[in-house]
Amino acid sequence: MRWNVLAALGWVVVCATPVAAQTKAPEESASKDPVKALVSRLELEKYKATIKGLTQFGDRRQGTDRNRAAVDWIEAKLESYGCTNTERVRYNFEPPPPRPPAADAPANPVIASGEVRSGQGGSRYRGITRPTGVNTDPMKQPDAKLRALNSQASVPGLREEVYCTKIGTTRPDEMYIVGAHMDGHGWAEAANDNGSGTALVMELARIFSSPDVQTERSIRFVLWNNEETGLNGARAYVEQRAALQGKEDPVGSGKYPEPRWLGMIQHDMMMWDHGMPRADGTLNPEQRPEADVNIEFQSTAKMADQAMKLAFFFRDANEKYATDYPAAVGHHMTNTDSTPFMDLVPAISLRESERGMHIGAGWDPHWHQPTDVYATFSDKDFRLGLNAAQTTLGGVAQLAGTRLK
Ligand SMILES: [Zn+2]
Repeated sequence: MRWNVLAALGWVVVCATPVAAQTKAPEESASKDPVKALVSRLELEKYKATIKGLTQFGDRRQGTDRNRAAVDWIEAKLESYGCTNTERVRYNFEPPPPRPPAADAPANPVIASGEVRSGQGGSRYRGITRPTGVNTDPMKQPDAKLRALNSQASVPGLREEVYCTKIGTTRPDEMYIVGAHMDGHGWAEAANDNGSGTALVMELARIFSSPDVQTERSIRFVLWNNEETGLNGARAYVEQRAALQGKEDPVGSGKYPEPRWLGMIQHDMMMWDHGMPRADGTLNPEQRPEADVNIEFQSTAKMADQAMKLAFFFRDANEKYATDYPAAVGHHMTNTDSTPFMDLVPAISLRESERGMHIGAGWDPHWHQPTDVYATFSDKDFRLGLNAAQTTLGGVAQLAGTRLK
């Protein structure tokens, strides 16, 4: 009893003294919340190292040896983390005849007061815009070594993409899908688009695969291929696997090759939120302090209401678990691998900015450009990606029912 009284008194003291509350050791609160303990296992240096590892394969353009080598490398890494049940989706890709790339942002960069100019996904541009596009000119890459690394052209044909799964203890037949595309283009290193999202998914696979982590439901970590050609890898997954959901195979085995989908969480371009272009077309060279993680759902999707709830659940997870940057929710999710899922299951995407009104309006000057290389980004940029990882880890760990053994 005496111990209880002292403990109760101690609690009062902690509550009544802001300074005492602030100096509470992080492990103490982490031990009460297994999700917090898991989130604390994310490290900036590990996240950066995984992005750096991906950049050794240049732009990882689909249909090339460097893309296939990157898939092999990702698979080996997942297995080394303990996510050993890796599998591959195989599909054929025949590119449509080439057409001139359409610029997202219009030529006149300034949106006049009251002028309505539409962007992708139902969005509306505001303020100052910059032209966007995909660099296809090797000579715009000043680094001769990188130019050589990216020189092999894409060839139509067989494609592969890799995934691995954390199997749920009590509900192995249900899962959340955590995804990012691993292919890129533009004659650089695809460091931000989308080494930053790929590394985030790989880091979550590493942490959830730790032997002391148990989840009630399953979680699948997928690294899509062929996103940049039109979401072809994610579409192939949906076409091949949607009908397999929730089926035990073999019957009586307790094994579910395709657990029922509960939600799809996509990650695509996680690091650069320097604000709107300036009137002269230049950008703030520093990450802006009010940078945020943009969580988007698509209001026209069949599962829009459920996806909206999921998006706000992730915003809450951000408030609980992200160390530096907040999250905002938008309703114009577009041009990313969660799109093929959005009529079937609640689907959201996390990004550095909204894909429609921000990225589409030219807010990221490195998007598909020769400057999308590891050296372009500062720790403040990498940290925005880490905060997105904290957000998704916090959200998915709660939804999947996580405990530490
Ligand atoms: Zn992308």
